[in-house]
Amino acid sequence: MTSSGVPASSVDGAAAECSRVVKTYRTATESVTALDGVDLAIPRARLTVVVGPSGAGKSSLLRLLACLDRPDSGSVHVGGLRVDGLRARGRRRLRRRHVSYLFQRPGENLLPYLGAAEQVRLAASMRGAEVDDDAISALLSRLGLGARVSHRPGELSGGEQQRLAVACSVIGSPTLVVADEPTAELDSAAADRVLGAMGELAATGVAFVVSSHDPRVMAVADGVVRLDHGRVQQ
Ligand code: ADP
Repeated sequence: MTSSGVPASSVDGAAAECSRVVKTYRTATESVTALDGVDLAIPRARLTVVVGPSGAGKSSLLRLLACLDRPDSGSVHVGGLRVDGLRARGRRRLRRRHVSYLFQRPGENLLPYLGAAEQVRLAASMRGAEVDDDAISALLSRLGLGARVSHRPGELSGGEQQRLAVACSVIGSPTLVVADEPTAELDSAAADRVLGAMGELAATGVAFVVSSHDPRVMAVADGVVRLDHGRVQQ
C-alpha cells in the first residue's frame, strides 16, 4: 500500500487499474491535460474515494474507469479486461456487465415512472442477471427502503432516491460502481446514510470508487486517491 492507502501498481484481482494514463482535451483554442500519467489500482470489496481540487481530473478519471471515455495513452483494465482500446459498442457491452455509474443528482439515476422495486428489477435485467423478488426486497430493506418498495422517485426524498440508485447500481454484482460526487446534493444526514450504505455494500464484494469534496466521504473510505493537476499525489 502507498501512503494514499491504495495499491499503486498492478495487483492481482484489482477491480480496476490504470497505468500511465494520459487524457487531454483539445478545443479550437487550447489543449488541457486532465490526467498526466496516472497509475492506480482500485481494490475489490473496498470503498475508494478520489479527492482533489476542482479541475484536478477526478471526473475525467472516473469516466475512464466507468468506460465512458478513452485515454489518449496508457492502459485501463476493468475486471481484468483491457478496456482503453474498446470502441463505443465494446465499452457499452462491458459497462452493462461490469460497471455502474452514479450521477450526482439522484433523479438522474432513476426512471420517474417506476416504483423502487421495479427500478431494481429493471437494473438487474439490463445487467442480464436473474434476481428474484425476495432478493430485491432484502436489498431495499438493507438500504432502509423496505417501506418504500412501490414508491416512485417523486415520492422519495433525495437521500432515499440516491440509496435506491445505490441498490440499482449493485444488483447483479457488477465489478465496479463509479460515483461522481454522489452526496453533493444531499444534506449531511442523508449523505451519511448513502455513504454508510456504500461502505456496507463494498464490504460484500463490490468495488466502489467515489469522487468527492466531502470530508465525510474520506472518513468512511477504505482508501483515498489524491489527485492534483492530473497526477496522483503520494
Ligand atoms: P475535476 O472533476 O477534478 O473537477 P475534470 O476531470 O472535470 O476535473 O477536469 C480536469 C481538467 O480538464 C479541467 O481543466 C477541465 O476544465 C478540463 N476538461 C474536462 N472536461 C473537458 C472537456 N470535455 N473539454 C475540455 N476540457 C475539459
